[in-house]
Amino acid sequence: MQAGARRKPDAPSAKTSTAMAKVKRSFNNRTCEAPYLIFLGPPGSGKGTQAEKLHQSFRLVQLSTGNLFREHIKNETPLGLKVKSILAKGELVPDDLTVQMVVDRLDKPDTIMGVVFDGFPRTRDQALALHQRLDEKAKCITAAVSFRITDDEIVERLSARRTCPKDNSVFNLKSNPPRENDKCDLCGTTLLRRDDDMPEVIRHRLQVYRQQTEPLIEFYREQDMLIDIDATRSIQEIEAQLDEWMPMFIYNANS
Ligand code: AMP
Repeated sequence: MQAGARRKPDAPSAKTSTAMAKVKRSFNNRTCEAPYLIFLGPPGSGKGTQAEKLHQSFRLVQLSTGNLFREHIKNETPLGLKVKSILAKGELVPDDLTVQMVVDRLDKPDTIMGVVFDGFPRTRDQALALHQRLDEKAKCITAAVSFRITDDEIVERLSARRTCPKDNSVFNLKSNPPRENDKCDLCGTTLLRRDDDMPEVIRHRLQVYRQQTEPLIEFYREQDMLIDIDATRSIQEIEAQLDEWMPMFIYNANS
């Protein structure tokens, strides 16, 4: 599909209708103006790749806190200088700085079409702050999608991940290689391995994820908002599954 083309969602399948009924209950007393989706999953589970696809297909804003931090670091802003060493070590940036950055981004008018939160929230306090902020704006989370994958698979994937420093495109030397060796398909810039994609940092990031972020899966499950996806499937299969679910996300948002 071409960038910017809006794909018409198909009618939901029987399976989706069941999931739809389940998700819809959580929103009976709320008015959601647009789909606001949370992608939960360990680093390298494919959240960013799929969030980018939803942006291309449905015009949802991909709100990736990791990308926003990396932009600040590249531009040497005061926030960038503050967080540079935190990212390099694979630690989490403090909640107050992260939430403020997200709130500022949410205030921009393009979020009206909907948002995919990619890598946010990562702690319970971030989740609570997000919900409070959306409540104030009469908006709400439509669903949280949990990308399920094992640690061994992550280490293998992230070791082969290459990113474009210019436009943040993500490739994988094994499963999604660039057309030309080490060059970004979109802009031709030489691809890099992120500092925090080195094996020792990957293991630390996974530990941080399991301790601080994974509990959010239960948090969203208890609120009947959670949908699981098998993140070991191919990029195309996961994209097709998310496309199939889109009608229920949009339906919830507008019901
Ligand atoms: P990502 O690209 O999502 O893997 O994020 C890269 C790094 O950015 C993480 O290892 C953290 O240092 C920082 N980061 C991204 N999102 C958050 C968040 N929601 N809370 C705290 N730190 C974050």
